[in-house]
Amino acid sequence: MRESLLDVDESFLKETFQSIGEPGYRVTQVLDWIYQKKVATFAEMTNLPIHLRDFLDKHYKIDPLTLLTYQESADGTLKFLFSLGDNEKIESVLIPMNQNLTLCISTQVGCPLDCKFCLTGVMGYTRNLTAGEILGQVLFIQRWLGPKKRISNVVFMGMGEPLANYQNTVKAIRVMLSEKGLNLSNRKITVSTSGIVPGIRKLGREDFIVNLAVSLHAPSNDLRSQLMPINRKYPLEMLLEACREYPLPKRRRITFEYVLLKGVNDRPHHARELAKILKGFRCKINLLPFNEAPELPYERPSDAEVLQFQKILIEQGYSVFIRTSRGRDILAACGQLAVRSSDTGCSGFKLRPISSATASTGFFPSKSMA
Ligand code: SAH
Ligand code: SF4
Repeated sequence: MRESLLDVDESFLKETFQSIGEPGYRVTQVLDWIYQKKVATFAEMTNLPIHLRDFLDKHYKIDPLTLLTYQESADGTLKFLFSLGDNEKIESVLIPMNQNLTLCISTQVGCPLDCKFCLTGVMGYTRNLTAGEILGQVLFIQRWLGPKKRISNVVFMGMGEPLANYQNTVKAIRVMLSEKGLNLSNRKITVSTSGIVPGIRKLGREDFIVNLAVSLHAPSNDLRSQLMPINRKYPLEMLLEACREYPLPKRRRITFEYVLLKGVNDRPHHARELAKILKGFRCKINLLPFNEAPELPYERPSDAEVLQFQKILIEQGYSVFIRTSRGRDILAACGQLAVRSSDTGCSGFKLRPISSATASTGFFPSKSMA
């Protein structure tokens, strides 16, 4: 199987080129074609000699993933279904909001952490994504969008737990941040974690600093351990200490995410307890009204209950936002990503097969074309 160049280090490529008698500057040219010009094939690398293009094509590929289908939600959110080299499947979600285009990417096939309210967790765990497969989601979708639309934010909130796939997550972030890579600003990248404490600490010691979102979901260890088994290993006190020490610059704040499950963690006393444990934190709280799925045993609270929860926290001085669930109709909202067989068939949603022609010309679907 041909290896993706997104999974090959620059130094390895240099050695390989040297061994076949190619000058070092060819590596720079190849990387420029991939990351700046964003071509999809070696044939398009027109300033390389034909024999080198042939060599690359024989031994390598560019994209580690193939787009199978995408679905468009009534609210404009797009869900992409990719197949990987071993036929595993992952999803990425593109969310247009005002002038921004936020891309939500996956880091694992499934997830091993088994949070009880999350469909990805219920689906179980198959494997980690490689760095190229993580990065490849951003590169592919940016190419697909074409040069006029730019992905403005990348959030690690798709399938999987990024800090349980630490090395590859960090490797992918480095290329996203690099000038020679995707040249994204570190302020525009957010890693979301269920609270893997050693991973949070390690991320804080890297030579870059990205935004951190922490999935809290309960104000007490008892309740949190029921909802998120990872809390038994890294309880709230440990988690909050690691969050306090995460070295975000002064003007930036950590985000806490709190999924609201009707009758479980959404009562006024939960809001008051949450306010108490977060006392003194410079943070932002995102409330996520539960996104339902037939496989999950919880209910979404009413809008009035959500607003009441928010009000209690605001009165305690917190910045609290209710995250609208974008793409719920196509199961693209938080916690709804799980590749089902129906995703490759049809389930009554708009579902379009992608031909390589549309995939490489940056065709952007509009509602009128649906
Ligand atoms: N594994 C990481 C990132 C992926 S999940 C994490 O857990 O943080 C992104 C967010 O969606 C998390 O806050 C997660 O708890 C939340 N989520 C999971 N299932 C959900 C559901 N059914 N409804 C609403 N939010 C959910
Ligand atoms: Fe994994 Fe995050 Fe889902 Fe928990 S919420 S099962 S950590 S993807």
